[in-house]
Amino acid sequence: MYPRQFDYVAPTSLDEAYGALGDDSKVLAGGMSLIPLMKMRLLSPGTLVDIGRIPGLDAIEDKGDHISIGALVRHSTTAGHPLIAQHAPALAQAAGMTGDVQVRNRGTTCGSLAHVDVAADQPAAVLAHGGVAVVGSASGTREVMADAFCMDTLTADLSPNEILLEIRLPKAGPGEGSAYDKLGRRGGHSDYAVAGVAAWVKMDAGSITDARVAITGVGTKPSLLPEVSQALIGTDGSESAVASAAEHAVDGVTVLEDLYGSVEYKTHLAKVYAKRAIQKAIGSIRA
Ligand SMILES: Cc1cc2nc3c(=O)[nH]c(=O)nc-3n(C[C@H](O)[C@H](O)[C@H](O)COP(=O)(O)OP(=O)(O)OC[C@H]3O[C@@H](n4cnc5c(N)ncnc54)[C@H](O)[C@@H]3O)c2cc1C
Repeated sequence: MYPRQFDYVAPTSLDEAYGALGDDSKVLAGGMSLIPLMKMRLLSPGTLVDIGRIPGLDAIEDKGDHISIGALVRHSTTAGHPLIAQHAPALAQAAGMTGDVQVRNRGTTCGSLAHVDVAADQPAAVLAHGGVAVVGSASGTREVMADAFCMDTLTADLSPNEILLEIRLPKAGPGEGSAYDKLGRRGGHSDYAVAGVAAWVKMDAGSITDARVAITGVGTKPSLLPEVSQALIGTDGSESAVASAAEHAVDGVTVLEDLYGSVEYKTHLAKVYAKRAIQKAIGSIRA
Protein backbone atom coordinates (compact mmCIF):
# COMPACT_ATOMS: atom_id res chain seq x y z
CA MET A 1 0.00 0.00 0.00
CA TYR A 2 1.15 3.58 -0.61
CA PRO A 3 1.35 5.98 2.32
CA ARG A 4 -0.99 8.98 2.48
CA GLN A 5 0.43 12.16 0.93
CA PHE A 6 2.98 13.98 3.09
CA ASP A 7 5.46 16.83 2.89
CA TYR A 8 9.17 16.01 3.04
CA VAL A 9 11.91 18.30 4.28
CA ALA A 10 15.62 17.53 4.58
CA PRO A 11 17.21 20.20 6.78
CA THR A 12 20.98 20.60 6.89
CA SER A 13 21.19 21.95 10.45
CA LEU A 14 19.58 21.15 13.79
CA ASP A 15 18.08 24.66 14.03
CA GLU A 16 16.41 24.17 10.64
CA ALA A 17 15.14 20.75 11.76
CA TYR A 18 13.67 22.13 15.01
CA GLY A 19 11.95 24.84 12.95
CA ALA A 20 10.36 22.23 10.67
CA LEU A 21 9.09 19.99 13.50
CA GLY A 22 5.56 20.40 14.80
CA ASP A 23 2.50 18.54 16.06
CA ASP A 24 1.87 16.80 12.70
CA SER A 25 5.48 15.90 11.87
CA LYS A 26 7.75 12.90 12.40
CA VAL A 27 11.53 12.64 12.48
CA LEU A 28 12.81 10.31 9.74
CA ALA A 29 16.12 8.56 10.55
CA GLY A 30 16.73 5.14 8.90
CA GLY A 31 13.03 4.75 8.02
CA MET A 32 13.13 1.01 8.82
CA SER A 33 10.15 1.26 11.20
CA LEU A 34 8.55 4.56 10.21
CA ILE A 35 8.14 3.89 6.48
CA PRO A 36 6.45 0.44 6.93
CA LEU A 37 4.01 2.02 9.43
CA MET A 38 3.23 4.78 6.91
CA LYS A 39 2.79 2.27 4.08
CA MET A 40 0.35 0.29 6.23
CA ARG A 41 -1.35 3.62 7.04
CA LEU A 42 -1.00 2.99 10.74
CA LEU A 43 0.76 6.35 10.87
CA SER A 44 0.17 9.33 8.55
CA PRO A 45 2.32 12.31 9.51
CA GLY A 46 1.77 15.53 7.55
CA THR A 47 5.53 16.23 7.32
CA LEU A 48 8.60 14.02 7.44
CA VAL A 49 11.68 15.78 8.77
CA ASP A 50 14.63 13.77 7.41
CA ILE A 51 17.60 14.30 9.74
CA GLY A 52 19.94 12.35 7.42
CA ARG A 53 21.69 15.44 6.01
CA ILE A 54 22.50 17.10 9.33
CA PRO A 55 26.26 16.92 9.88
CA GLY A 56 27.79 15.72 13.15
CA LEU A 57 25.19 13.12 14.14
CA ASP A 58 26.81 10.00 12.71
CA ALA A 59 29.69 9.32 15.11
CA ILE A 60 30.48 7.03 18.00
CA GLU A 61 32.90 8.93 20.21
CA ASP A 62 34.81 8.63 23.45
CA LYS A 63 33.82 11.77 25.36
CA GLY A 64 36.08 11.14 28.36
CA ASP A 65 33.57 10.01 30.97
CA HIS A 66 31.11 8.36 28.54
CA ILE A 67 30.68 6.94 25.03
CA SER A 68 28.37 8.89 22.72
CA ILE A 69 26.29 7.29 19.93
CA GLY A 70 24.92 9.95 17.56
CA ALA A 71 21.42 9.97 16.10
CA LEU A 72 22.56 8.78 12.67
CA VAL A 73 24.78 5.87 13.75
CA ARG A 74 23.56 2.76 11.92
CA HIS A 75 23.04 -0.62 13.59
CA SER A 76 25.96 -2.06 11.57
CA THR A 77 28.32 0.64 12.88
CA THR A 78 27.23 0.03 16.48
CA ALA A 79 27.67 -3.73 15.97
CA GLY A 80 31.23 -3.42 14.69
CA HIS A 81 32.66 -0.38 16.48
CA PRO A 82 35.70 -0.98 18.73
CA LEU A 83 34.47 1.48 21.41
CA ILE A 84 31.13 -0.35 21.68
CA ALA A 85 32.93 -3.73 21.74
CA GLN A 86 35.10 -2.45 24.60
CA HIS A 87 32.54 -0.53 26.67
CA ALA A 88 29.13 -1.99 25.78
CA PRO A 89 29.48 -5.57 24.44
CA ALA A 90 25.78 -6.37 25.04
CA LEU A 91 24.82 -3.47 22.76
CA ALA A 92 27.28 -4.58 20.06
CA GLN A 93 25.72 -8.06 20.20
CA ALA A 94 22.13 -6.69 20.13
CA ALA A 95 22.94 -4.44 17.15
CA GLY A 96 24.48 -7.40 15.31
CA MET A 97 21.28 -9.40 15.89
CA THR A 98 18.96 -6.60 14.65
CA GLY A 99 17.20 -7.59 11.42
CA ASP A 100 19.15 -8.48 8.30
CA VAL A 101 22.16 -6.80 6.70
CA GLN A 102 20.02 -4.27 4.77
CA VAL A 103 18.18 -3.25 7.94
CA ARG A 104 21.45 -2.98 9.87
CA ASN A 105 22.96 -0.76 7.17
CA ARG A 106 20.01 1.67 7.23
CA GLY A 107 18.36 1.64 10.66
CA THR A 108 19.84 3.65 13.51
CA THR A 109 20.52 2.70 17.14
CA CYS A 110 18.90 5.96 18.31
CA GLY A 111 15.88 5.29 16.05
CA SER A 112 15.47 1.89 17.67
CA LEU A 113 15.43 3.51 21.14
CA ALA A 114 13.08 6.31 20.02
CA HIS A 115 10.66 3.84 18.43
CA VAL A 116 10.19 1.67 21.59
CA ASP A 117 9.03 -1.46 19.75
CA VAL A 118 7.95 -4.11 22.27
CA ALA A 119 10.41 -6.57 20.72
CA ALA A 120 13.35 -4.31 19.81
CA ASP A 121 16.81 -5.61 20.67
CA GLN A 122 19.04 -2.60 21.27
CA PRO A 123 16.86 -0.73 23.81
CA ALA A 124 17.23 -3.68 26.22
CA ALA A 125 21.02 -3.47 25.90
CA VAL A 126 21.02 0.32 26.32
CA LEU A 127 18.99 -0.12 29.54
CA ALA A 128 21.33 -2.82 30.87
CA HIS A 129 24.33 -0.56 30.20
CA GLY A 130 22.72 2.32 32.13
CA GLY A 131 22.35 4.49 28.99
CA VAL A 132 21.09 8.05 28.94
CA ALA A 133 19.04 9.65 26.13
CA VAL A 134 20.06 13.19 25.18
CA VAL A 135 17.06 15.01 23.72
CA GLY A 136 17.28 18.33 21.87
CA SER A 137 14.82 21.02 20.85
CA ALA A 138 14.92 24.73 19.98
CA SER A 139 14.93 25.44 23.74
CA GLY A 140 18.04 23.36 24.54
CA THR A 141 18.89 19.81 25.56
CA ARG A 142 17.79 17.52 28.39
CA GLU A 143 18.99 14.12 29.59
CA VAL A 144 16.72 11.21 30.50
CA MET A 145 17.70 7.76 31.78
CA ALA A 146 16.94 5.33 28.94
CA ASP A 147 14.59 3.31 31.18
CA ALA A 148 12.39 6.37 31.78
CA PHE A 149 12.78 7.42 28.12
CA CYS A 150 11.09 4.14 26.99
CA MET A 151 7.71 5.10 28.44
CA ASP A 152 5.34 2.58 26.85
CA THR A 153 4.65 0.62 23.65
CA LEU A 154 5.83 2.81 20.72
CA THR A 155 5.99 5.76 23.12
CA ALA A 156 9.24 7.51 24.03
CA ASP A 157 9.64 10.54 26.26
CA LEU A 158 9.83 12.81 23.20
CA SER A 159 7.53 15.66 22.23
CA PRO A 160 6.84 16.34 18.52
CA ASN A 161 9.37 19.20 18.41
CA GLU A 162 12.23 17.18 19.92
CA ILE A 163 15.03 15.04 18.44
CA LEU A 164 16.93 12.25 20.19
CA LEU A 165 20.44 13.61 19.55
CA GLU A 166 22.55 10.88 21.12
CA ILE A 167 22.70 7.96 23.52
CA ARG A 168 25.36 8.21 26.25
CA LEU A 169 26.78 5.03 27.74
CA PRO A 170 28.99 4.80 30.84
CA LYS A 171 32.53 3.59 30.10
CA ALA A 172 33.34 0.07 31.25
CA GLY A 173 35.50 -0.37 34.34
CA PRO A 174 37.40 -3.34 35.81
CA GLY A 175 35.39 -6.46 36.70
CA GLU A 176 32.47 -5.58 34.38
CA GLY A 177 30.94 -7.79 31.70
CA SER A 178 27.80 -7.81 29.59
CA ALA A 179 25.93 -9.92 27.06
CA TYR A 180 22.72 -10.05 25.03
CA ASP A 181 20.90 -13.19 23.91
CA LYS A 182 17.51 -13.78 22.32
CA LEU A 183 15.23 -16.13 20.51
CA GLY A 184 14.24 -14.45 17.23
CA ARG A 185 10.79 -14.85 15.68
CA ARG A 186 12.09 -17.23 13.04
CA GLY A 187 14.06 -19.29 15.50
CA GLY A 188 17.46 -17.68 15.03
CA HIS A 189 18.96 -14.32 15.90
CA SER A 190 18.15 -12.13 12.87
CA ASP A 191 14.64 -11.04 13.68
CA TYR A 192 12.65 -9.29 16.39
CA ALA A 193 12.91 -10.96 19.79
CA VAL A 194 10.27 -13.41 20.98
CA ALA A 195 12.26 -13.03 24.17
CA GLY A 196 15.59 -11.24 24.55
CA VAL A 197 17.66 -10.39 27.63
CA ALA A 198 20.60 -8.04 28.11
CA ALA A 199 22.73 -8.40 31.23
CA TRP A 200 25.45 -6.18 32.69
CA VAL A 201 27.32 -7.48 35.73
CA LYS A 202 30.14 -6.14 37.93
CA MET A 203 32.23 -8.51 40.05
CA ASP A 204 34.81 -7.92 42.74
CA ALA A 205 36.77 -10.64 44.56
CA GLY A 206 34.50 -13.39 43.26
CA SER A 207 31.18 -11.75 44.13
CA ILE A 208 28.65 -9.78 42.12
CA THR A 209 28.65 -6.20 43.43
CA ASP A 210 26.28 -4.65 40.89
CA ALA A 211 24.03 -5.80 38.03
CA ARG A 212 21.47 -4.51 35.56
CA VAL A 213 19.31 -6.91 33.55
CA ALA A 214 16.73 -5.87 30.94
CA ILE A 215 14.17 -7.80 28.94
CA THR A 216 12.47 -7.32 25.57
CA GLY A 217 9.86 -9.17 23.51
CA VAL A 218 7.66 -10.43 26.31
CA GLY A 219 6.02 -7.32 27.79
CA THR A 220 4.71 -3.93 26.70
CA LYS A 221 8.18 -2.42 26.25
CA PRO A 222 11.87 -3.17 26.83
CA SER A 223 12.36 -2.78 30.59
CA LEU A 224 14.79 -3.25 33.45
CA LEU A 225 14.34 -6.18 35.83
CA PRO A 226 15.39 -4.83 39.25
CA GLU A 227 14.35 -8.03 41.08
CA VAL A 228 16.77 -10.08 38.97
CA SER A 229 19.58 -7.61 39.67
CA GLN A 230 18.86 -7.62 43.41
CA ALA A 231 18.85 -11.42 43.47
CA LEU A 232 22.28 -11.49 41.76
CA ILE A 233 24.04 -8.91 43.92
CA GLY A 234 26.04 -10.52 46.73
CA THR A 235 26.15 -13.95 45.11
CA ASP A 236 29.20 -15.67 43.62
CA GLY A 237 27.59 -15.84 40.15
CA SER A 238 27.47 -19.64 40.23
CA GLU A 239 25.06 -21.48 37.97
CA SER A 240 22.61 -22.06 40.82
CA ALA A 241 22.73 -18.39 41.90
CA VAL A 242 22.10 -17.24 38.33
CA ALA A 243 19.29 -19.78 37.82
CA SER A 244 17.58 -18.62 40.99
CA ALA A 245 17.91 -14.91 39.99
CA ALA A 246 16.56 -15.72 36.51
CA GLU A 247 13.38 -17.06 38.11
CA HIS A 248 12.47 -13.36 38.65
CA ALA A 249 12.67 -12.61 34.89
CA VAL A 250 9.05 -11.54 34.56
CA ASP A 251 8.58 -9.95 38.00
CA GLY A 252 6.82 -6.63 37.37
CA VAL A 253 6.39 -7.40 33.65
CA THR A 254 2.94 -7.76 32.07
CA VAL A 255 3.68 -10.74 29.81
CA LEU A 256 1.71 -10.47 26.56
CA GLU A 257 0.55 -13.33 24.37
CA ASP A 258 1.11 -12.73 20.65
CA LEU A 259 1.48 -14.65 17.38
CA TYR A 260 4.82 -16.00 18.58
CA GLY A 261 3.93 -17.43 21.95
CA SER A 262 1.54 -17.85 24.85
CA VAL A 263 2.07 -16.16 28.21
CA GLU A 264 3.38 -19.47 29.63
CA TYR A 265 5.85 -19.98 26.76
CA LYS A 266 7.13 -16.40 26.90
CA THR A 267 7.51 -16.61 30.69
CA HIS A 268 9.56 -19.78 30.24
CA LEU A 269 11.72 -18.18 27.50
CA ALA A 270 12.29 -15.08 29.64
CA LYS A 271 13.80 -17.21 32.40
CA VAL A 272 15.88 -19.31 29.98
CA TYR A 273 17.32 -16.24 28.19
CA ALA A 274 17.87 -14.36 31.45
CA LYS A 275 20.00 -17.25 32.70
CA ARG A 276 21.91 -17.46 29.40
CA ALA A 277 22.61 -13.73 29.11
CA ILE A 278 23.72 -13.41 32.75
CA GLN A 279 25.99 -16.45 32.48
CA LYS A 280 27.53 -15.06 29.29
CA ALA A 281 28.09 -11.69 30.98
CA ILE A 282 29.81 -13.38 33.96
CA GLY A 283 31.79 -15.62 31.58
CA SER A 284 33.09 -12.55 29.75
CA ILE A 285 34.55 -11.19 33.04
CA ARG A 286 36.18 -14.50 33.91
CA ALA A 287 37.53 -15.05 30.40
C1 LIG B 1 12.65 -6.28 7.81
C2 LIG B 1 12.93 -5.61 9.13
C3 LIG B 1 13.43 -6.38 10.17
C4 LIG B 1 13.69 -5.80 11.41
N1 LIG B 1 14.18 -6.58 12.40
C5 LIG B 1 14.45 -6.03 13.61
C6 LIG B 1 14.98 -6.83 14.66
O1 LIG B 1 15.28 -8.03 14.52
N2 LIG B 1 15.21 -6.23 15.85
C7 LIG B 1 14.94 -4.89 16.06
O2 LIG B 1 15.15 -4.41 17.17
N3 LIG B 1 14.45 -4.10 15.07
C8 LIG B 1 14.19 -4.63 13.86
N4 LIG B 1 13.71 -3.82 12.85
C9 LIG B 1 13.49 -2.37 13.11
C10 LIG B 1 14.79 -1.59 12.81
O3 LIG B 1 15.76 -1.89 13.73
C11 LIG B 1 14.60 -0.07 12.80
O4 LIG B 1 15.73 0.43 12.18
C12 LIG B 1 14.47 0.67 14.14
O5 LIG B 1 13.40 0.21 14.87
C13 LIG B 1 14.18 2.16 13.95
O6 LIG B 1 15.32 2.86 13.53
P1 LIG B 1 15.28 3.80 12.24
O7 LIG B 1 16.51 4.61 12.25
O8 LIG B 1 15.00 2.99 11.04
O9 LIG B 1 14.06 4.78 12.60
P2 LIG B 1 12.83 5.31 11.73
O10 LIG B 1 12.11 4.19 11.11
O11 LIG B 1 13.30 6.40 10.85
O12 LIG B 1 11.94 5.95 12.90
C14 LIG B 1 11.26 5.12 13.83
C15 LIG B 1 10.55 6.03 14.84
O13 LIG B 1 11.48 6.66 15.71
C16 LIG B 1 11.45 8.09 15.51
N5 LIG B 1 12.84 8.53 15.48
C17 LIG B 1 13.88 7.93 14.83
N6 LIG B 1 15.02 8.56 15.10
C18 LIG B 1 14.70 9.60 15.91
C19 LIG B 1 15.47 10.63 16.52
N7 LIG B 1 16.80 10.70 16.38
N8 LIG B 1 14.81 11.55 17.29
C20 LIG B 1 13.47 11.47 17.45
N9 LIG B 1 12.70 10.52 16.91
C21 LIG B 1 13.31 9.59 16.14
C22 LIG B 1 10.70 8.32 14.20
O14 LIG B 1 10.04 9.58 14.19
C23 LIG B 1 9.73 7.14 14.21
O15 LIG B 1 8.63 7.45 15.04
C24 LIG B 1 13.45 -4.38 11.60
C25 LIG B 1 12.95 -3.62 10.55
C26 LIG B 1 12.70 -4.22 9.32
C27 LIG B 1 12.17 -3.37 8.19
